[in-house]
Amino acid sequence: MARFSQKWINGIVRDTDFVQLVKELTDQQPDKKGLFLCPFHTERTPSFKIYKERNLFICLGCGASGSPINFVMEYLFMSFREAVIFLARRLNRRFPKK
Ligand SMILES: [Zn+2]
Repeated sequence: MARFSQKWINGIVRDTDFVQLVKELTDQQPDKKGLFLCPFHTERTPSFKIYKERNLFICLGCGASGSPINFVMEYLFMSFREAVIFLARRLNRRFPKK
């Protein structure tokens, strides 16, 4: 499979609805403040926040942070490339040809 350009990867990240992604993968709904229970540490009060404009998450409890790619890598134990492919398929995105 062809190498993915940074531009193509950036498009995948940009077009991913991060809140929807976290809802799907963690089977959670955000609380009134838009926070989720962090999947990377044990907590009773949600402190996992998504910044939609920048498509970044940060956990105010354990400090985990990153892009949708980082989230998928950590949550599903995938490599960077596997996470990009996962997100691209989710968007029904065409893969670049060689
Ligand atoms: Zn956390």
